This record gives sequence, structure tokens and C-alpha cells, in this order.
Amino acid sequence: MKLYILKPLLFFSFVFFSVYLRGQATAPDEDTGSYTTCNADGANATRTSDDLPNPVNVGAIDDRSCYANYKESDVYGKTWGIYNITHNSNQFGSSLQPRIERALSASLKTGVGSFAKFSGIVRILEVGDTSGTNNDGSYLIQAKGKHTGGGGSPDPAICLYLAKPVYGTGSNSGKQVSFDIYAERILVRGGSGSGREVVFLKNILKDEQTSFELEIGFKEDPNDASKKIHYCNAVIGGTVFNWNIPDPERGTQSKIRYGAYRVKGGRAQIRWANTTYQKAEVENQSLSIDENQVTLSSIKTYPNPAKNNFKIQLNNIENATIGIYDVLGKKVYQKTNVKESIEIINNNRFKAGIYLIKVIDNNQKVYFKKLIIN
Ligand code: CA
Repeated sequence: MKLYILKPLLFFSFVFFSVYLRGQATAPDEDTGSYTTCNADGANATRTSDDLPNPVNVGAIDDRSCYANYKESDVYGKTWGIYNITHNSNQFGSSLQPRIERALSASLKTGVGSFAKFSGIVRILEVGDTSGTNNDGSYLIQAKGKHTGGGGSPDPAICLYLAKPVYGTGSNSGKQVSFDIYAERILVRGGSGSGREVVFLKNILKDEQTSFELEIGFKEDPNDASKKIHYCNAVIGGTVFNWNIPDPERGTQSKIRYGAYRVKGGRAQIRWANTTYQKAEVENQSLSIDENQVTLSSIKTYPNPAKNNFKIQLNNIENATIGIYDVLGKKVYQKTNVKESIEIINNNRFKAGIYLIKVIDNNQKVYFKKLIIN
């Protein structure tokens, strides 16, 4: 066979073989031995003790497994956080599922523009298996958040991302070769058990480096500017899975935890690298402000809705400070020492949308008025 044929053949054999191997080979940082519930290496005195001094993963450790403590591995050119848990290994209360997770500081505001956003790369090596029951799988990451009005857990999980095992055939029978990722979502605030839906998202191979973004936050309802949406949006390996949480007005915060959580049989092994976290907290400026409470006689805006330039007229307010805020609560305009009226030249400073005019008089009394720019 001539070399110019042989070379591509060799190359394609190699690619084929590599792909074939993916999803079944042992990962370089995988625990392959038999496992225990507890051992000296995994015992930790408190949930936050025994973290590494400067962990590569963001967030505060919550270690509720006496099987392992948090460790790290250098594999595939990255440093990975190691989250290994086994069935019955929660030494702080057997009624709760084992976990080694990292808690990210909550976004505690509910104004439009508030959010908590995590990103990272995950590798799944093994997840819980209960042999034929419906309780297979382990959670990789979850969004949580308290709500008003009671019902259910005081700090419930809102949307969780569950990996269930898929077993190979032939020489791989009995081996977890890939994982079906599901979203588990509440159907009502305070709901648990049957108050949740479990939706299949996608399959990822064992040990496959998979990007994972999760953002939970508040945004304006595009169909009704007076309403909010509390969203929980994930991007898994580049595929977008957006979801809106029920009863958005009852949500009081947005929180994220990730790592490895729940193993009702067997062992779970999850790895996380390149983790980042950011959050925003925007006061609820409440653009749906009750205009009866606004002293309409004190502030007049015209035209309103405005297209280009507009005028703000103050009656019986002296030496006022005027601020104009967009729906994200960001100040887009400020003027001090306004006497009776002010004309504002738009000049593309205000894009189409809803704004809140905040006027503070020289007695520190505050007045609001809604402004719409078309
Ligand atoms: Ca531990």
C-alpha cells in the first residue's frame, strides 16, 4: 500500500479509536478501587474544615461526606477540584444525602438585573446507582433561593442538574460509559416530590470536558414591563436550556451550589475546573410604583412617552436633584440644583424603554415619576 493512502488511514484509525475509547477508559484521576462509607482520609470535623488553603474552585466548601475530603488533580492541562462521595457517607446526619459542594454567596436582591452566574468545566467519572430504582444519579449543580409565603423547605432547591448513569455493552457492560443530564425543576414555590418535573437535556460521555454555565436572576418580562421573570438558565456544552421559575414575585434571592450531591447507591465522582462566579444585586426600584402615592402635581414630564427631547417641570420643589434610572436601576442622568424645569436633549442618551425619574428636594423628600421613551 502506498504511503499517501496509508497515512490518512492510520490517522482515521487513530481518530476512530480515540473516539471509541472516549467514554469507557479510566480517567487519569479516577478512583477505581473498592470504596468505603467512611475512612480516615475523608473524615472532616466540621462541614467547612479540611478544605485546601487556596482551592482552585470558587466558593465555600460544604463537605458532608466522610468518604473523601476535597482534593485537586492536574489533568488535561487544568487543575481540577475533586468531589467524591459514597452512599451513606454523610457523617453529619444520615437523613440528608452525602455531598461535597461549594456554596457561592447569594444575590440577595430581587430588582431586575439581579443575578448569580457560575461557569466552569465539568468531567463526570461516576454517579450514584441504585440498581433498578428511580433514584439513580447524582447532582452536579443546583440553583436555590428562599421565597415569601411559606410552603416546603425554607431554602429550597429550585432547579438542579442531575447526571444519571448509562452503561456500556459487551466488554463495557457494568461500566458507566456516559451520563444522561436532566434538569429537575420545581413546578410551584414550596413544591417538592411530585411538585417537580424532571426533563432530559442531553447525554455526555464519561470524562468528557463539558462547559457548564448556570445563571439565576431577575429580568423584566418582555410582554409586561410591570412584571418580573425569575429565570434559571443553563448552557451545557454549548447547548442553551432556559427556564423561567414559577411565582417570580415570591422569590427573594438567587443562589448557586456545585460539586457532587446525592448518591443513593454506589459512588459519585465529579471534577470541576476553570470555575468563575459573579453576581449583581439591584434594589427593587419597583417601576410598577403606585402612582397614587406619587405627588403627580409636583412633577410633570412632557411629552411622556417621549421620542427625543423632553421636559421635566417641578412645581413647588426647589433646588432639586434629578436622577433618571433605567430598568436595571442604573443611573443614566443626573442634574443638581434644578429650579423650576429642565429640558433634556436626548441625543441617543436614552434608548427606548421605561425609566424612573427620582427627584430629591432640599428637604431630602423624594418624588418618583415614570418616564417612557419610545
Ligand atoms: Ca470529607
